Amino acid sequence: MSDPLWFDPTLCLIGGKWQPAFSRRTLPLVNPSDGSEICQIARGDVTDMDAAVGAAQTALDSDWGRMTALERGRILTRMGQIVLERVDDLTALEAMDVGKPLTQARADAVALARYMEFYGGAADKVMGETIPYLDGYTVYTLREPHGVTGHIVPWNYPMQIIGRSVGAALAMGNACVLKPAEEACLTALAFAHIAQEAGLPDGALNVVPGLGAEAGAALSGHKDVQHISFTGSVSTGVLVQQAAGRNVVPVTLELGGKSPQLVFDDADLDAALPFLVNAGCQNAGQTCSASSRILVQRGVYEDVKARMAAAYQELTVGPANEDLRVGPLISARQKDIVTGFLAKGANLPIVGQGVIVDHAPKAGAYVRPTLFGDVPPDHPLAQDEIFGPVQVLIPFDTEQQAVEIANSTDFGLVASIWTRDGARQMRLAKRLRSGQVFINNYGAGGGVELPFGGVGKSGHGREKGFEALYGFSQLKTVAAFHG
Ligand code: NAD
Repeated sequence: MSDPLWFDPTLCLIGGKWQPAFSRRTLPLVNPSDGSEICQIARGDVTDMDAAVGAAQTALDSDWGRMTALERGRILTRMGQIVLERVDDLTALEAMDVGKPLTQARADAVALARYMEFYGGAADKVMGETIPYLDGYTVYTLREPHGVTGHIVPWNYPMQIIGRSVGAALAMGNACVLKPAEEACLTALAFAHIAQEAGLPDGALNVVPGLGAEAGAALSGHKDVQHISFTGSVSTGVLVQQAAGRNVVPVTLELGGKSPQLVFDDADLDAALPFLVNAGCQNAGQTCSASSRILVQRGVYEDVKARMAAAYQELTVGPANEDLRVGPLISARQKDIVTGFLAKGANLPIVGQGVIVDHAPKAGAYVRPTLFGDVPPDHPLAQDEIFGPVQVLIPFDTEQQAVEIANSTDFGLVASIWTRDGARQMRLAKRLRSGQVFINNYGAGGGVELPFGGVGKSGHGREKGFEALYGFSQLKTVAAFHG
């Protein structure tokens, strides 16, 4: 493996040129495994964003805008190939920057490659339709890019979120301005180098790191940006939507969740157990689709509780490079947030807890994965997104009650149903208020191909799969009168 920092992390990419922020200001990037400073990154602001949006528009007006869908697809496919060749480097970067255990960081890098392969192959397969109309007319639709698209990405899955949003946007011929998170932006920069190496024309992808309130706000409120894709917190999502709204620009918001798994008496518990636990502790619970609520029917409640308690004792927590089940949280700030939630559960029974390895650096952002039992459905731990390795067990008696509890939060991103009863599977798949429903599994292995997004405060719009290509394009209707 080469030096993880094989590029200069202090620069922005604008119009094909790597350059410092115009202000020359930088920000520190911290390794959450030990609290050390990794490097400085550019602190972009409104001036850099302005230049990046201008460069994207220039790309649309030149080579990139004129390129055929087939050629765009080939470049994306090449980007995917280079990502695969660099999997070790990207894994090392993400582990250092986000604190992801190596196996999880590697899975994200492979998923990034898969997104580029998928959208590379799909680029020339998006078609319009002809519409039967009045006598003497021929009517058809065209799918066209929005133009300049803004991509505001969080720190929890940088590679996957860049893959699903930038990949789909480029496939449709948009020119992208990417604002990675200030806590973790190294793989975004690495990805931009890979894009250049693959032959992506200058300005088709621009990357400006910086603070949310500066670079992020400048992008979401920019008058020449025609679409915004945002993943992150509800409060920031509201700000982004308001800013975009002032320019009448559409937004896709992916704002997290409080996703339930419903375990019925007839469930195959051996099959369910790994999913019940892993969906809560993967990426230390900092996953928008984390399953933080486990709803269990009374007949198997004690059994599930005992099995999950045993699984929690096996959860070891430590530095990313040791590749344990759970790494650190992203930051000391996130640790404070999660610790605050744990304190709210002081009167609830703790059913199981993982263990932080003795030698974990004291300055690392570690918390013990914690499973609470017998949690009332309206308790804050059962209602609020925690974004840490914390799960709650909630007993229920009837199917009706399970649905009511599952649908009782403000969120609706992912849900799963564990039951052998086929009629119940179909019934609940319809009744659960959620963007995705899984039956006898959770997450379906990531699902690059599967449309993803939420209802309620989980957001709106869909990314991933073919559906994202519709989101990153607009429909034009052409009505020709020929008599
Ligand atoms: P955030 O929503 O503030 O940050 C996400 C992205 O938005 C970052 O790139 C950030 O720089 C940018 N941003 C921040 N303020 C902005 C603004 N005013 N305008 C435009 N962009 C802005 O999230 P956070 O502060 O990093 O984390 C706080 C909480 O958000 C977490 O505890 C968690 O609950 C939630 N979160 C959810 C997700 C998710 O995938 N749904 C991801 C990250 C965080």
